[in-house]
Amino acid sequence: LVSRENHPTRSVIRVGGVPIGPGTMTLIAGPCAVETPQQTLAAARMAQRAGAALLRGGAYKPRTSPYAFQGLGEDGLRILADVREAVGMPVVTEVVDAHDVPLVSRYADMLQVGTRNMQNFALLQAVGGCGKPVLLKRGLNATIEEWLMAAEYVAQRGNLDIVLCERGIRTFDTTTRNTLDISAVPVAQGLTHLPVIIDPSHSGGRRELVLPLSRAAMAVGADGLIIDVHPAPEEALCDGPQALVADDLAELAHAVRAFPPMI
Ligand code: PEP
Repeated sequence: LVSRENHPTRSVIRVGGVPIGPGTMTLIAGPCAVETPQQTLAAARMAQRAGAALLRGGAYKPRTSPYAFQGLGEDGLRILADVREAVGMPVVTEVVDAHDVPLVSRYADMLQVGTRNMQNFALLQAVGGCGKPVLLKRGLNATIEEWLMAAEYVAQRGNLDIVLCERGIRTFDTTTRNTLDISAVPVAQGLTHLPVIIDPSHSGGRRELVLPLSRAAMAVGADGLIIDVHPAPEEALCDGPQALVADDLAELAHAVRAFPPMI
């Protein structure tokens, strides 16, 4: 279903009216985690001012440590919905449990399946039946074939509104959090008709890598970028070191605009 063999034309997926796919470069930005209404609104305004079309923000955070901030859950979803109302940007948010899919679908415009859940088949099937577009991150140990098969699980349930996101894979190198597999963009685009975007924030794990990795993403023809921003990264409850501030995001958007055309 997701293979390009039977579907030679690359697909454009619409999220609340915003297109992602060939001929576009969709900028998605927002906080890693929804923390407060003020922080989420401030991050959304930063994103919007820079030209982002979609707002990201996690209400359910899959953290390595069980002692780390796990997200606000439904309270976070409510904040996202309020901020969407205020700024008019459709919302992308992660769902980590198949049982939460109906709840998250009520609030979100697009459901994200994170790297750790790429082969959570019950979750993939649940988002396949949710009626909302899905952002499917590549598992940090997954081959491209496994990633596309994960997309196939979603598609099999009747949902072909899937966007793939390369977010770095685990390699022997420890100087970055993960290694961005930039070749995944053209390789996956050759194998599937689905759009492929890049997350340079979670792959590198460091603010100073976000701009160069975004440039690389544009150069290989990624269909979009998803970027962490925060009004006060030093106070962030999650992944502050990778969050951009307003000026960084404006610089990134400017650099990206050099590649036609940004939406
Ligand atoms: C995220 O986007 O908030 C996230 C946790 O990403 P990943 O699943 O790629 O680590």
